[in-house]
Amino acid sequence: MSKTILIFFGSPGSGKGTQADLLSQKTGWKKISTGDLLRAEIVSKSDLGKRAEKYVNAGKLVPDKLLIDLVAKSLKQKAEGFIFDGYPRNIKQQNDLSNMFEKCLKKNDQVLSLLVDVSDKEVKQRLSQRRVCSCGSIYHLKYNPPINNGVCDVCHQKLFIRDDDKPKIINHRLKIYHQNIKPVFDYWQQTDKFIKINGEQPIAKIHIEILEKLGKRNS
Ligand SMILES: [Zn+2]
Repeated sequence: MSKTILIFFGSPGSGKGTQADLLSQKTGWKKISTGDLLRAEIVSKSDLGKRAEKYVNAGKLVPDKLLIDLVAKSLKQKAEGFIFDGYPRNIKQQNDLSNMFEKCLKKNDQVLSLLVDVSDKEVKQRLSQRRVCSCGSIYHLKYNPPINNGVCDVCHQKLFIRDDDKPKIINHRLKIYHQNIKPVFDYWQQTDKFIKINGEQPIAKIHIEILEKLGKRNS
């Protein structure tokens, strides 16, 4: 059985996580997020988990070598496809991943990448209008406003803006994102396996476009 590996790209606020979830639900492909994998390994007290825990507890970034071991292990699960969300973030991680694929994948397996393309202007607009509650609810002043202005529908606490969503921080996050991801896109653009989707459309429409481009619309 050959498998498909799809790597999702998109800036913060692009909605790529939502699209990765929708696609995973539709196709049954397993979603791979290094954050989730790390947490699961740590909880299960595996060798990898024990190695990772030292870094996580010290508030340090987990080394790339450990991340790639983690990803390689997760690809051994039984599935027709895998969706990467949030990894790789830079060209070093992309190179690690390409090398690992060469070793671990079979000839008929395919690796594709998909960019949910949203302009910085739109990202800033979206994130600046996001409001959150300490109960975990998330609102958007335009697309998903609370019933009562500034108050959570679920728990009636006062809503606030995440520090991450303040304009100065958004600008910084976008700058870092572009710096890190540009060489990765340069790499993918040389292949015929780079799918670009207009991310400035309604969520359902983006989902359908992704299915169409993957030939999964009617499956
Ligand atoms: Zn709430």
